[in-house]
Amino acid sequence: MAKITCKSILTKSKLPGADYCCNIYVGCTHGCVYCYARFMKRFTGHEGDVWGQFVDYKANALDVLKEEISKVRWNEHILLASVTDDYQPIERKLELTRECLKIMANYDVNVDILTKSSLILRDVDVIRRFSRCEVGISCGIDDKRASEILEPGATHIDERFETLKALKENGVRCYAFVSPIIPYITNLENIMRNISGNVDYVMFEIINLKPLDTGLFRNTLIKLVGAEIYGEILTAAKNKHYWDTMQEKATKLCREYGIEMTGFFRHDNEY
Ligand code: SF4
Repeated sequence: MAKITCKSILTKSKLPGADYCCNIYVGCTHGCVYCYARFMKRFTGHEGDVWGQFVDYKANALDVLKEEISKVRWNEHILLASVTDDYQPIERKLELTRECLKIMANYDVNVDILTKSSLILRDVDVIRRFSRCEVGISCGIDDKRASEILEPGATHIDERFETLKALKENGVRCYAFVSPIIPYITNLENIMRNISGNVDYVMFEIINLKPLDTGLFRNTLIKLVGAEIYGEILTAAKNKHYWDTMQEKATKLCREYGIEMTGFFRHDNEY
């Protein structure tokens, strides 16, 4: 782990629903096999390192945030985070994200926190000071074994479902981010059953094949499900009709469970 400094902490974003992103760490020890943020290695001096095995922290994040926070307008959104998870295990000790949230809460800006860590529960007291702060928990891989292999450093999937429940019980507006949906692995029925009554809404996103480290993805999936099923996963992931069916299924399940669905994001997987 290295201590680094940043010139800016609120970076302009083109992601849907986010005007700024706030990445307090570099790298991510959750180490998801399907991670789209691996490209960050190139820009952060980690070319030779293994994604998931390093994390740097922006030691001057609080000072920079204090300088930048006033530029955020009342109707703009800040997303924590886009190319890391701001709840890295080391955050338990450093409390950098917690302190950043306190600054944001003082300005009562609009914040969306997306994480795979139950450490978010530590900060419920700060989150409740905002008038507009939502927390999303990523939970696209509901199968326990698959989750342990594909998201090795993240909070156990069952605990993530429990985290959503605890957030809701504590009055925090929260949502399930069902991402990535991987054919033959993600079980939408099971996810909906687990989040029912514990979320304000749900958002879906399909696997994005393009930014993957294809060798790592292939080898890991083959180890998990075998070469034949892996082939079927790829075929389905590139099939527009497959995703039409999944979107219909998600819509139907949301209706059945009475959960608002705010999006089903698709990627062009060479249809
Ligand atoms: S939690 Fe997000 S940023 Fe971290 S490894 Fe997983 S997909 Fe990448």
